[in-house]
Amino acid sequence: MGTLPPSIQNLINEFNKLPGIGPKTSERFIFHLLKRPKSDLEQMANSLRELKDKIAICTECYDFTENSPCDICTSSQRDKTTICVVAESPDLMAIEKAGTYKGIYHVLGGVINQIYGIGPDQLRINELEERIKKNGIKEIILATNPDMEGESTALYLIRVLKPLGIRITRIGKGLPMGSNIEYADEVTLANAMEGRGEVK
Ligand SMILES: [Zn+2]
Repeated sequence: MGTLPPSIQNLINEFNKLPGIGPKTSERFIFHLLKRPKSDLEQMANSLRELKDKIAICTECYDFTENSPCDICTSSQRDKTTICVVAESPDLMAIEKAGTYKGIYHVLGGVINQIYGIGPDQLRINELEERIKKNGIKEIILATNPDMEGESTALYLIRVLKPLGIRITRIGKGLPMGSNIEYADEVTLANAMEGRGEVK
């Protein structure tokens, strides 16, 4: 094939922007989509549109939700004195799936990463401090990934939160260095939460 028709090339460019998707995979997606009935594609376009229309960010924990505050923040079954701090939404979902944690969350919106120029002020750290001061929080569980960025984010948080005089714990036992909370299996994650150690 010579040059691709612009309508195909445009969509390839869009898919290319997704993490882990290269030009070859984008092409494969698009030629697959072309074989599907038009109604399928319309359904997909609608879902994409709804994504930004319906999904908001929880005003308490900053997780994605259709109703803010989210179900976890408003649940009477959750312990509102313990906050588990995660980098991103998928980490929260993984911990929820493990099923043993009964506190609430705080989504930072990323980790400190010097290579990408992400510093503490681009994360929701002030918001976390505010929540701790306002809401009588007793324990903060640092559940950033056990890799370089996750560790430096945890260290930074320990430094800022220590003066607030609350118990600070770090998820970790059983999670090997360099591993990823999002992809950890449920048993490992439940154990890591259970066996969290206090940061001195
Ligand atoms: Zn929430």
